[in-house]
Amino acid sequence: MRTHTCGDLRASDLGKEVCLQGWVRFSRDHGGVAFIDLADRYGMTQVVFDPEDVSANDAAALSETMSSFSRESVVMVRGTVRRRVEGTEDARNPTGEVEVLIRQAELLNKSGIPPMEVGDQKEGVLPGEDVRMRYRYIDLRRSEMIRAMEFRSKFMHLARQYLESKDFLEIETPILGRSTPEGARDFIVPSRIHPGTFYALTQSPQLYKQMLMVAGMDRYYQVARCFRDEDSRKDRQPEFTQLDMEMSFVDMQDIQDTIEGLVAYVWKGLYGEELKTPFMRVPYEVAMEKYGSDKPDMRYGLELHTLTDVVKDAPYKIFQNVIASGGIITGINIKKDLAGDSIGRNEVDRYIEYVKKIGMGGLTWMRAKDGTLESNIVKYFTPEIIASLKQEMGAEDGDLLFLLAGPRKATLEGAGTLRRKLAEDLGLVPQGVHQFLWLVDCPMFDVDPVSGKRDSFHHPFVLPDENYEGGACFDLCLDGNELGSGSLRIHKAEVQREVFRMLGMSEEKMEADFGFFLEALSLGAPPHGGIALGIDRFVAILLEKDSIRDTIAFPKNKVGISLLDGSPAKVDDEKLEELQIMSMAFDDADFEDLE
Ligand code: ASP
Repeated sequence: MRTHTCGDLRASDLGKEVCLQGWVRFSRDHGGVAFIDLADRYGMTQVVFDPEDVSANDAAALSETMSSFSRESVVMVRGTVRRRVEGTEDARNPTGEVEVLIRQAELLNKSGIPPMEVGDQKEGVLPGEDVRMRYRYIDLRRSEMIRAMEFRSKFMHLARQYLESKDFLEIETPILGRSTPEGARDFIVPSRIHPGTFYALTQSPQLYKQMLMVAGMDRYYQVARCFRDEDSRKDRQPEFTQLDMEMSFVDMQDIQDTIEGLVAYVWKGLYGEELKTPFMRVPYEVAMEKYGSDKPDMRYGLELHTLTDVVKDAPYKIFQNVIASGGIITGINIKKDLAGDSIGRNEVDRYIEYVKKIGMGGLTWMRAKDGTLESNIVKYFTPEIIASLKQEMGAEDGDLLFLLAGPRKATLEGAGTLRRKLAEDLGLVPQGVHQFLWLVDCPMFDVDPVSGKRDSFHHPFVLPDENYEGGACFDLCLDGNELGSGSLRIHKAEVQREVFRMLGMSEEKMEADFGFFLEALSLGAPPHGGIALGIDRFVAILLEKDSIRDTIAFPKNKVGISLLDGSPAKVDDEKLEELQIMSMAFDDADFEDLE
């Protein structure tokens, strides 16, 4: 119907008769001459109605039509492209040299008063996120959101192109399935036809993709929606998208090479630049010891120093107790040139409060001064201990040292969180610089230090080493975020059974929940492995968005509610009866939060 989009017209189109359709973004009247910014996904074009330019009859009718053009109404205009009056061009707008002089106009659909502004605003004047979510279709009209959707679409398109070129087959797997243990709760869906039984919404296609390898599909991928009923913490969504892959007859290097090739291809397509591969490999233990994280951000320093051995002989009670119970002492040196010497007492107190807030017992601090260390605990340290502490931490006059002590894992993670906080406060996190890395040499299990109970480090399908201690698994990280995990899988039923047993699963439960899968492994499963990348997060990082919600067209809010359609919602008693689910007497107050 239209001859051009609202982003098309240029000076080379002068004199053309055109038809545009779009949304009335802004309109203004200059002494009877009406100006409208007509917008669509592609851009914004200025259209002008000047009564002088049309016959008196037409002018009256047009003027009447145009008076109905309220903000965000959908309209059609026909007219001639002409150059804007000198001095009124808009250099920031690609259509900014021209305007369309209206001869004909039609209101296609009048909009009510828009509940939010669509024009380009600064972050500060955006309405609250609740309003943006409630009227997401209007929020999505904003150019920032359009760019995000375009970027994401292009990203997926490039990924598909690459994988197709490498013989991967795109295969869909069930969403209604059996529960897979990805470490979250399942959303469950009652079966009407088989009352009393339930499907689980798949947490990931893990078991299906492995069975596709048993089926000989060799190379599989899917843009897979995953469903995890997690508590609303951090920036998670109950449903999210993974680029999911699986390959047969591969080792870890093959999988990593494929991903590096894929990411480099997508990168080139998005930015026109070569991405440097291979990515750096960081062993899990190094990541924890030096960065306090299994997804270390190595774009800045502030590394952790393990000091347990250095201070073990100092008669300082807190350290002694921690060491006696198997804990560690770790420290961060804030160098003088990173403002170490200008962080005053009050600020140090704020960091002490901060570490308490994140669950640490406290923070010990020292200043390097006059060739030694100053602090209320150095009296416990011999000159030798002070010297080795300084050496271990590379401390020079003017540096500020923070020390944390406690159980190993929690203390390293706490120090990692403090490291990130310091980096942000000191402005050390580089903008626009990205760094990929592989976290490698991961353990097979997380073992609870108190109960000794094992949990999968990734999931129970990872191929263990001979001792069942290390796992053939790895994570792809970007800028301190985990983009996804991959591994070689167990392809022998007896090994899989042993891992289930080590996780404390009874033989009965194993048969009931995974009998079908163990059987598949025993009927010709090839060696195989794969990985899944979280697309929402990947796109959010590249677009420098704070939240993955800004990369998802219709996300749930922070507490899992879709403000757009009001889900989750009550269902009629009749529906519940059909499902033979007892209707529960919920109080209306139970729903208040949702409304
Ligand atoms: N299914 C795993 C996950 O969702 C990824 C994989 O191992 O391929 O984390």
